[in-house]
Amino acid sequence: TQSLAERDPEIAEAVSKELGRQRDEIELIASENIVSAAVMEAQGSVMTNKYAEGYPGRRYYGGCQFVDIAEELAIERATKLFSCGFANVQPNSGSQANQGVFTALLQPGDTILGMSLDAGGHLTHGAKPNQSGKWFNAVQYGVRQQDSEIDYDQIAALTAEHQPKMLIAGGSAIPRVIDFAKMREIADTVGAYLLVDMAHFAGLVGTGAYPSPFPHAHVATTTTHKTLRGPRGGMILTDDEAIAKKVNSAIFPGIQGGPLMHVIAAKAVAFGEALRPEFKSYIEQVVVNAQALSDQLIKGGLDTVTHGTDTHLVLVDLRPKGVKGNATEKALGRAHITCNKNGVPFDPEKPTVTSGIRLGSPAGTTRGFGEAEFRQIADWIIEVVDGLAEHGEEGNSAAEDKVRAEVAELCARFPLYPNL
Ligand code: PLP
Repeated sequence: TQSLAERDPEIAEAVSKELGRQRDEIELIASENIVSAAVMEAQGSVMTNKYAEGYPGRRYYGGCQFVDIAEELAIERATKLFSCGFANVQPNSGSQANQGVFTALLQPGDTILGMSLDAGGHLTHGAKPNQSGKWFNAVQYGVRQQDSEIDYDQIAALTAEHQPKMLIAGGSAIPRVIDFAKMREIADTVGAYLLVDMAHFAGLVGTGAYPSPFPHAHVATTTTHKTLRGPRGGMILTDDEAIAKKVNSAIFPGIQGGPLMHVIAAKAVAFGEALRPEFKSYIEQVVVNAQALSDQLIKGGLDTVTHGTDTHLVLVDLRPKGVKGNATEKALGRAHITCNKNGVPFDPEKPTVTSGIRLGSPAGTTRGFGEAEFRQIADWIIEVVDGLAEHGEEGNSAAEDKVRAEVAELCARFPLYPNL
């Protein structure tokens, strides 16, 4: 019966400080969002106590009748949102969703073709330090030097040369729309599966602001916590019954045991929210805000990869101002603007330094920021970056202090979780 504060004051304090950080700082990490109180309530519910190995109606434990309702609703809503026939909502993360697909459709040693990490791909698409790069013969494609757009000619050439069993589309730093039809056409030349990992832009797909992977993809994966604005987790979707069967066995008993039923309940809540008209308006605003951010940064003398964005994501090229990604991430952090350093295509700097930062509009837009606020944020970023350009890595502390005070005022105007 004890509250968290009574039972464990150290953790209670950390949680409370994290709430304060989220309230007082501007969150620009492109892969983050701010879930509703309802999503948190479901995730913090008694469903955390329940073992439910198996699938609704086919469990290895008794007493699953109510968690079955949650999982059935999550599946029903996910398939409606993404207009497909099948969803497995059990993957604990986006990485495990991808691992599940590999387990379902590949054998160790098979060749896969995914986007390289430095071009904007994800670790799980065949990067060397990841299991996908160790257990498979991973070949990697990139973007074109001239415009940083996905190099479909290179994908076609690598496909012909290496005959991959699976082609992977998607990534973590791709500002523009991916041509799924073209990817499928290339996959078909060698009979490869096409996996679309829509983790970043799933919320946009759900509302029609980004083309659907279907009917082109054989299978799609996603995280549920980015633009989709649900709890941390993953999901696998397909329209192919044979693949669906393999995916179910790959997740359980293949790579996971008991599913996180409290998270699945929260996924159902988030998918329900995403099916409402307000979510469509939210996503439209996410894209407008990212475009305003990119436009204002360019006006301020920075560049953005592909000179704009079709999505929620802006990859800033800092080289026009001669500053580095690591120093910029730190300086913006001092001004209470949170983002991550990120390589730009063909980055001359090491991954621990980088020439870029990655920004995103999902969290700020949830908070209620519109175009005017995002243009203001761009101006603050320019002020902080100019401080680095003039003063070196220490930055201009007077400018950073001024921005931090203005950030506090903005955050106060858009309160977060008022009932917590
Ligand atoms: N796939 C893509 C494209 C991602 O951006 C991410 C998240 O960073 C993942 C997969 C992995 O998701 P998670 O961090 O939940 O394992």
